[in-house]
Amino acid sequence: MSSQQPYSFFQSVEKSFDKAAKLTKFDPGILEQIKACNSVYQMRFPVKRDNGTIEVIEAYRVQHSQHKSPCKGGIRFSEEVNQDEVMALASLMTYKCAIVNVPFGGGKGGIKINPRNYSVYELEKITRRYTSELVKKNFIGPGIDVPAPDYGTGEREMAWIVDTYASLKPGEIDAAGCVTGKPVTQGGVRGRKEATGLGVFFGIREVCNMQDVMAKLGLSTGIEGKRVVVQGLGNVGYHSAKFFREAGAKVIGLAEYEGAIMNPDGLNEEEVFQHRKKTGSILNFPGATNLAKNSDALEMECDILIPAALENVINGENAPRVKAKIIGEAANGPCTPEADEVFIQKGILCVPDMYLNAGGVTVSYFEWLKNLSHVRYGRMEKRFTENQNSIILGQIEGLTGKKVTEKERGLIMHGPDEVDLVHSGLEETMITATREIMEIWKNNPDIPDMRTAAYVSAINKVATSYSELGIFP
Ligand code: GLU
Repeated sequence: MSSQQPYSFFQSVEKSFDKAAKLTKFDPGILEQIKACNSVYQMRFPVKRDNGTIEVIEAYRVQHSQHKSPCKGGIRFSEEVNQDEVMALASLMTYKCAIVNVPFGGGKGGIKINPRNYSVYELEKITRRYTSELVKKNFIGPGIDVPAPDYGTGEREMAWIVDTYASLKPGEIDAAGCVTGKPVTQGGVRGRKEATGLGVFFGIREVCNMQDVMAKLGLSTGIEGKRVVVQGLGNVGYHSAKFFREAGAKVIGLAEYEGAIMNPDGLNEEEVFQHRKKTGSILNFPGATNLAKNSDALEMECDILIPAALENVINGENAPRVKAKIIGEAANGPCTPEADEVFIQKGILCVPDMYLNAGGVTVSYFEWLKNLSHVRYGRMEKRFTENQNSIILGQIEGLTGKKVTEKERGLIMHGPDEVDLVHSGLEETMITATREIMEIWKNNPDIPDMRTAAYVSAINKVATSYSELGIFP
């Protein structure tokens, strides 16, 4: 528990859950079961460092719910990892999957290390050993529990996991489905890497297209011209910034743990990323102003604030100084329940994590389906669609006596590639979820904020599926 927080991260998830649960009509027993973490596996294992010393590693995998199988959720590498944090993150996965209709239970894993302090060889040993510990206890498998990337992990770690799993399970035809977020060459799906950031963009774009919501905030509809601040330039922050910029928004502030920069004319995330790679810091980017503390970025005057790093960054202490009109929670748990109360009073719209950052797990679902079906998306229909389009276009041209341009021909003829299908599946998922949550909120005047509406949506879905299982006759 952090010193400024009156309760732990898991307790804060429970608090938000209870706030919403009161507004539903489900049996208290069902609600209690939904809230509880079903299984917690805490492990310790030794690893020999490159310098010959032996270090004992602390790691976790939590399965919050099995109302749908398998469990699903990332694995994070961070010094802050502890059981409470992993439990909180696993719970958020249950609600997240339910809201976006991805048929998984919630899970999460964590290894308590700062990956920057380890060599690639050491990280590989730790990841492989962690995987074999999961295999030993039956905590991983395409039908049991399917990890994915999270803070501090990426495609590389997922490749090590699938390789370790497959070598321990010879002949398991669906082994590739034991983990998602893999490199495309190892059974990954195109579009997974940018999925969370793209999902954040689709969700916020949908909110910004709602005229009544924007009018209440005193903002014009649409993304174009909106001033955006992004905290965190990791995979999620980088891609969120990219999609907002490409849609015509201005990314006026970017923050990383060493500091923050601002430029009212807009920043290009790729240029900032390259500058950081070269100089080791986000600071002193040409044309931008340095901010004294990285947390100053959270208090900048802007339209949309995207916290895309870690939990608890906006709390009761700094929330009163937040000037954004919309907060898009790209990270898991960036705002505490105290911050939520401040946002309600100030009329700030907080678009909650557990649906806004669901793009990652949604595309993980597509990857898992690809692995189980053993075929790339688009393989069966691409050519067929192109042939059909060619016939239709030929007919239209024949009947009208006019020819389309080469560019238009390309657009009309194009049959879907894997990445087209993944992006459109994600877009559909995020738009539907945004509308569903907004409907719930509008139809119940007792719901104070969008987070509570999202929880109500999640509870409705999980409770229904428990009842359908016949556990609570
Ligand atoms: N770690 C991501 C999350 O928090 C993705 C999880 C997944 O793809 O299973 O949602």
